[in-house]
Amino acid sequence: MSTLPAHRYGDSRTCGATTVVSGQNNVYVNGNLWSVRSDPNSHGSGALWAELAKGVYINNKRVNLDTDGADPDNLCPVLDSQHCSPYANEGSPDVYVGVDKTIIAPYANTILGSNDYGMPGPGPETINTPIEEAI
Ligand SMILES: [Zn+2]
Repeated sequence: MSTLPAHRYGDSRTCGATTVVSGQNNVYVNGNLWSVRSDPNSHGSGALWAELAKGVYINNKRVNLDTDGADPDNLCPVLDSQHCSPYANEGSPDVYVGVDKTIIAPYANTILGSNDYGMPGPGPETINTPIEEAI
């Protein structure tokens, strides 16, 4: 078991946008709303997948963690391809959720350019593959 930080309102995405929490309005981490499945980013669209925290829900929606994947946002592909996979890349300094290393490995490869979690994983071609199909 490994852990990842809670992803919150205002936390950054890999494309430079920030997450906008629209899916719940009553659970906070460090004073900011905790992001849940399908929350968009500040560029419009870019819904987060919430595939990492398998057992943590707010109002029946799974929570997002740092490195969670996301749908393309409204700047894809007008500016550059980063907006086509605007993953979460910031989180709480002190609130973490346990995750299965084998589940986060594909994202670690894609986001960090190498597998920092010490697990073998598929390459960037899995970027838009829903995690349930990838494992
Ligand atoms: Zn963007």
